[in-house]
Amino acid sequence: MNYNSTRNKQTVVTASQAIAQGISEEGGLFVPQSLPQYSLEDIQALTKVDYRGRAKKIFGDFLGDFTEQEISESVDAAYTADKFGSDNPAPISYIESGDTKMAVLELWHGPTCAFKDMALQILPHLLTKSVKKTYSGKEAVILVATSGDTGKAALEGFKDVDGTKIMVFYPVNGVSPMQKRQMATQKGHNVSVVAIEGNFDDAQTGVKKIFTNTDIKSRLAAHNMMFSSANSINWGRLLPQVVYYFSAYCDMVNEGKIALGDSVNVVVPTGNFGNILASFYAMQMGLPVKKFICASNANNVLTDFIRTGTYDRKRTFYTTISPSMDILVSSNLERLLYHLTNGNAEKVAGWMQELSANGQYTVDETVKSKLSELFYGGFCDDENTQKTIRDLYQEENYLCDTHTAVAVNVYQQYVAETGDTAPSIIASTASPYKFARSVLEAISTEALPDDEFAMVEALSAQTKTPIPAPLSALREAEVRFTVACKVDEMPQTVLNGLSIH
Ligand SMILES: *Cc1c(COP(=O)(O)O)cnc(C)c1O
Repeated sequence: MNYNSTRNKQTVVTASQAIAQGISEEGGLFVPQSLPQYSLEDIQALTKVDYRGRAKKIFGDFLGDFTEQEISESVDAAYTADKFGSDNPAPISYIESGDTKMAVLELWHGPTCAFKDMALQILPHLLTKSVKKTYSGKEAVILVATSGDTGKAALEGFKDVDGTKIMVFYPVNGVSPMQKRQMATQKGHNVSVVAIEGNFDDAQTGVKKIFTNTDIKSRLAAHNMMFSSANSINWGRLLPQVVYYFSAYCDMVNEGKIALGDSVNVVVPTGNFGNILASFYAMQMGLPVKKFICASNANNVLTDFIRTGTYDRKRTFYTTISPSMDILVSSNLERLLYHLTNGNAEKVAGWMQELSANGQYTVDETVKSKLSELFYGGFCDDENTQKTIRDLYQEENYLCDTHTAVAVNVYQQYVAETGDTAPSIIASTASPYKFARSVLEAISTEALPDDEFAMVEALSAQTKTPIPAPLSALREAEVRFTVACKVDEMPQTVLNGLSIH
């Protein structure tokens, strides 16, 4: 199994090269040349094994130049009960009322309380093995742009991993206080964290530019270092996410919620389009999915794209209470376009060129009709996000975070509009405690305490739910990183951080 670039069909790399490199030379993203096909019998076989067994099968089918042992080692090290609280790292809570049948897939039981852990606990294992295979001896420098959750999850995954250094950039006013504290207190000898004066898109564009800057790259090479990426543009981030959609389906079969072969909807609170794209890959491999429901917050560029076929990032950027989705340029959409055009790299490269030059592009009729056949796009503002949190809590006694609430709200809109009552997997992407202020504000009538940790405690007292241990530990943790820089200082900051002069 080899990989092409979304912008150049001539580029062909192995799985380990795709993972080690992160992004293709000309700025395209790596995509599998073909997808393994799973019959219902294959899916049935997956119902008989646990999460790790399911992961090993799926990784084995994609990582052509990894040995079975390398895959086993990686999976067993990543998805432990110790790190995820139980042997199933992605358990489901069922909420069924009236016309809505929600299987809330809780992807936030890992060490940083957000779904990014599902991929970032295994990526360091895949990445160090990949670098050994393809660039033996080089030190991997991981650059990360984060809207909050990726940064912390990547830091936790890569801290003290031999042969790697990691540097994280986050928008100074674009993350929650808890997210900021999680990053600023990060431990490890190979980590650094920098705030930038800009929003997430600025951070992401800045990192992409550094990746493709030939001068910086050659200076790194002279020091036996190479860049790699832990953002969801890296195939090694995306692949682990395919696993939990199969796993959720298998659990639903095992728990008698659906019969093998039944179709489900998948609802995903979406930012960079990585998580929902993973469910699209699962479907292309044979998972019975009826509709992908792409949920956005007030930054509803994807809603408009799905409805009109025009992607237009020239619009107001909103800072919302679901900050991990405050994104106007969804990188992974490029992979979807590649697949919907049957691998037309020229067309995709053209659209991406238009996006960077003019801030917009319009897909052709074929892609547009495939898009609207597969996807439903909707959005939800902050007020309705909080109302959804309150209603779910009061009516169903289920406490969810702001991102998950966006998904639930858009799912409810979808059901009201279409009458489709098929069982639906809702990707629940963060612990409510990560966004304690907004969640508490939604369910409480009393004045809020000022301090973030007092809010966490108030939330726990009011809902009688436990505070996740990694979050309560932050209170006493020492702040290590306070550096901030301007967007155009990012390249120099990277070189300084690596002691390259
Ligand atoms: C990253 C993130 C998202 C968005 O996921 P994408 O894969 O970028 O679409 C949604 N919710 C939370 C809590 C996140 O951390």
